[in-house]
Amino acid sequence: QKAEWAKLVNEPTVSADGHHVELAANIGTPKDLKGVKENGGEGVGLYRTEFLYMGRDQLPTEEEQFEAYKAVLEGMEGKPVVVRTLDIGGDKELPYLELPKEMNPFLGFRAIRLCLEEQGIFRTQLKALLRASVYGNLKIMFPMIATLDEFRAAKTILEEEKQKLISEGQKVAEKIELGIMVEIPSTAVLADQFAKEVDFFSIGTNDLIQYTMAADRMNQRVSYLYQPYSPSILRLVKMVIDAAHAEGKWAGMCGEMAGDETAIPILLGLGLDEFSMSATSILKARSLIKNLQKSDMEKLVQQVLNMQTTDQVIEAVNAAVK
Ligand code: PEP
Ligand code: MG
Repeated sequence: QKAEWAKLVNEPTVSADGHHVELAANIGTPKDLKGVKENGGEGVGLYRTEFLYMGRDQLPTEEEQFEAYKAVLEGMEGKPVVVRTLDIGGDKELPYLELPKEMNPFLGFRAIRLCLEEQGIFRTQLKALLRASVYGNLKIMFPMIATLDEFRAAKTILEEEKQKLISEGQKVAEKIELGIMVEIPSTAVLADQFAKEVDFFSIGTNDLIQYTMAADRMNQRVSYLYQPYSPSILRLVKMVIDAAHAEGKWAGMCGEMAGDETAIPILLGLGLDEFSMSATSILKARSLIKNLQKSDMEKLVQQVLNMQTTDQVIEAVNAAVK
């Protein structure tokens, strides 16, 4: 089977009835690019920039960040690279920021909330990204967006930094797509409004599931509630994809669900455009999609969206895929 998959490294990802999707990789550092290449990643769908900030005792400089972003953009040779701005907080702490302890860190001062408040940190990152943008196909996305006001505020800061760089005579790519992660239910529900203003969505199911089910993703005792195939989650995912398409935008997914064998048939049927997963899952996913008819998966979607439980959904997928 591994040998079969290896033949797919340089192939596009096309369903049995000719529908093309993009299989991208989640990375944490420029070193991860080797695995992306070896496994035939068609892009980077999520570059988690937190790792630049972690395991050290001070913030990374603009120059350090610039070098890392440039390395990833050059390494991907023009293929799309979606960089997520700093998503710190929740389970990811930065000791040197000395933030007050919170009762509910996952519901607290994290990600874009922190960046909009600590603007020095945010602006340094955006500057490094803008300067690196000329080295490849950069797309930027903001994590943990809950309201349109947050997106607009973050976009305004990005625009300000861009204008500053240009007035200093620095080169910045002309077109940088700007998107958001959809990991908070309020944003999924309001996706039709967001879709008018963003260039793309990337659905972060790791968090979207925990917030929808009100079940901490780190807590074993409530892990039975962590249900990617729950019809409730599937309906939210559908809302986001449909909202994007209605405005001519694309929708991706970068949570673990995007590389999950049971989820992929449903996501294909829902019309997801980009699947971003750990590099080692890509060839298996490509092989699976090549054997699926999108039209059949659309019928599967009609069934599962109207089911009552996760178990029923799993059964329906198994029946449709075999
Ligand atoms: C997600 O929430 O699905 C996601 C991809 O982000 P992270 O796992 O880094 O929170
Ligand atoms: Mg997340």
